[in-house]
Amino acid sequence: MKIGVLALQGDFREHLLALSNLGVAAMSVRRTQELDAVDALVLPGGESTTIAQLAQTFGLFQPIVQRITQGMPIYGSCAGMILLADKILDSTPGQRTFGGLDVTVRRNAFGRQVDSFEGDIAFSDGNPEPIRALFIRAPWVEVAGKNVEIMASATTTDGVSHPVAVRQGAILATSFHPELMADGRVHRYFIEQVCNGKVK
Ligand code: GLN
Repeated sequence: MKIGVLALQGDFREHLLALSNLGVAAMSVRRTQELDAVDALVLPGGESTTIAQLAQTFGLFQPIVQRITQGMPIYGSCAGMILLADKILDSTPGQRTFGGLDVTVRRNAFGRQVDSFEGDIAFSDGNPEPIRALFIRAPWVEVAGKNVEIMASATTTDGVSHPVAVRQGAILATSFHPELMADGRVHRYFIEQVCNGKVK
């Protein structure tokens, strides 16, 4: 299985490294021929508006939408989650997403005071140990469709719990950045469970 990382903007190098640390041959995707060569795709953290615009410029926008529709396994972290969401709140005017994930996400949801923070959260991959999650101007999921599995949530100071990791079929998304942490659990889950079709 060849996994690609969309390498237009954002922390794609960290995703490539996280995948290669798990022994997976990962490649950068910047053009349609490269997209055609991969079986699965990772959308990095970064700036969702910029990534969407560059995807348009590089002729990748529609091809990515098409591959998602055809069931290609795809994982997005942070900006990548926003790009997979069918609906976004607090978007910039005209902001487009690839979509496919039946959720509404709120951009920069955790607010300005807490632009960036780390926390231990449960992640439902079968391992009872929490994972250390790093959030940077992160979105959260505001509404999730009935076929969306909520795999992790974070509780804000008002006591409200917000989904921060979700999966629907072959689409996985996290508000946080496992590519910036040493532990490879989320990438391993994506490779071993999502890409291998072990979770439906
Ligand atoms: N706030 C960014 C956006 O809207 C996402 C931040 C991130 O990926 N760390 O795209």
